[in-house]
Amino acid sequence: MTYVFHRHTKANYPVAVAGDGPYVIDSTGKRYLDASGGAAVSCLGHSNRHVIEAIKAQLDKIPYAHTSFFTNEPTEQLARHLIERAPAGLNKVYFLSGGSEANETAMKVARQYFVEKGEPQRRHFIARNQSYHGNTLGALAVGGNPGRRELFQPLLINTTHIDPCYAYRHQRQDESIEAYSLRAADTLETAILELGPDSVIGFLAETVVGATLGAVPPTPGYFKRIREICDKYGVLLILDEVMSGMGRTGTLYACKQDGIAPDILTCAKGLGAGYQPIGACLVSGAIFDTIEQGSGFFHHGFTYIGHPTACAGALAVQQVIEQEGLLAKVRDKGSALTERLTHAFGQNPYVGDIRGRGYFQGIELVSDRDSKEPFDPALKIFAKIKAKAMEKGLMCYPGGGTVDGKKGDHVLLAPPFILEDSHLDELIEKLSASLSEVLRSEGIS
Ligand code: PMP
Repeated sequence: MTYVFHRHTKANYPVAVAGDGPYVIDSTGKRYLDASGGAAVSCLGHSNRHVIEAIKAQLDKIPYAHTSFFTNEPTEQLARHLIERAPAGLNKVYFLSGGSEANETAMKVARQYFVEKGEPQRRHFIARNQSYHGNTLGALAVGGNPGRRELFQPLLINTTHIDPCYAYRHQRQDESIEAYSLRAADTLETAILELGPDSVIGFLAETVVGATLGAVPPTPGYFKRIREICDKYGVLLILDEVMSGMGRTGTLYACKQDGIAPDILTCAKGLGAGYQPIGACLVSGAIFDTIEQGSGFFHHGFTYIGHPTACAGALAVQQVIEQEGLLAKVRDKGSALTERLTHAFGQNPYVGDIRGRGYFQGIELVSDRDSKEPFDPALKIFAKIKAKAMEKGLMCYPGGGTVDGKKGDHVLLAPPFILEDSHLDELIEKLSASLSEVLRSEGIS
């Protein structure tokens, strides 16, 4: 009998009791290779001593001090670390407990900026279909996952959604990738013009789409064009790097690979690598200065902002990433992972697409490669793969996101940065076996 309100109310989960590098160990001693970092969180695995000791040391100094009374050393140091490496123009950071809070903060700071700037008529956000920005009502409203929104629709603020940058399904046969990028980005301009440019606060997008599409990176030139459009109409570009940021794609900030800088950037998950719950909202100097020179007060706040122990943990995580050269390793091993996935699944008639960057990769499953038709959603292929993989001692993150109005299946891989070649072999072997056993048991292959 459990008193915990689990998300799947009838689920009977194994009990996690220990971590050993990239493995989670349950109470029966069974080991699970973590190929998804939980939900793209555990980038250092589950037993990093440097991080654990840093957290203990902070607890011995001071665990918590409310930021209405004090600042604290780990918060200041972590802010410096992130800002010194951030895309140009981002120069202040607000620390939170997770990704949804970071996106709520982004939306509210954006709105306050325009009010203080003398443009209070700006009140609309534009975001994308098939996106995920969090579970709180504001973040859910900008998110573009119909299944998650449906129940709460009457409570959600009105948001305009445009299509994501999703070449596998949306690039036309006679179209170059560059032309597709421009066409996809230009839908933002259309949406801005329809709403009235003076009424739009910002455009929100995941740099690389995570949970809802399965590691779909932007095509070349897409975000450059998005940046131009935002600048043309004075609309803020808000990038959600909660999943894709903090090194997961091989650079600390995923958007560096697209050669642009947003006005606001959110991150979480890999920031604290699961050792502490933490998120961050980075804002541009222009936004901060407007508020500072205006009311001088941001109308926002949570009890745990700038939490010293969470910041000490995250700072230690970021130090390990740098000291151990893990970004280069992610780039290198990420290519190795792509090669192995392509070798294992490239010819599989039920794998439509293999995509991603670094240690953030996805495979999209289809019932027919030519038509790209998803499987019947009633089959719940994604959930069955997750269960089968767990049986085999592998954690992967399958999703049943909506694919152009229909339910689709993908598997998202977001392993710890410390994975070695032998772990990659184990990952591929267990994933292949899980996929083929599930398809066979459904009478598909
Ligand atoms: N944005 C993105 C892109 C995410 O993937 C997530 C979490 N899956 C969130 C926001 C919300 O983060 P959290 O669950 O920490 O609130």
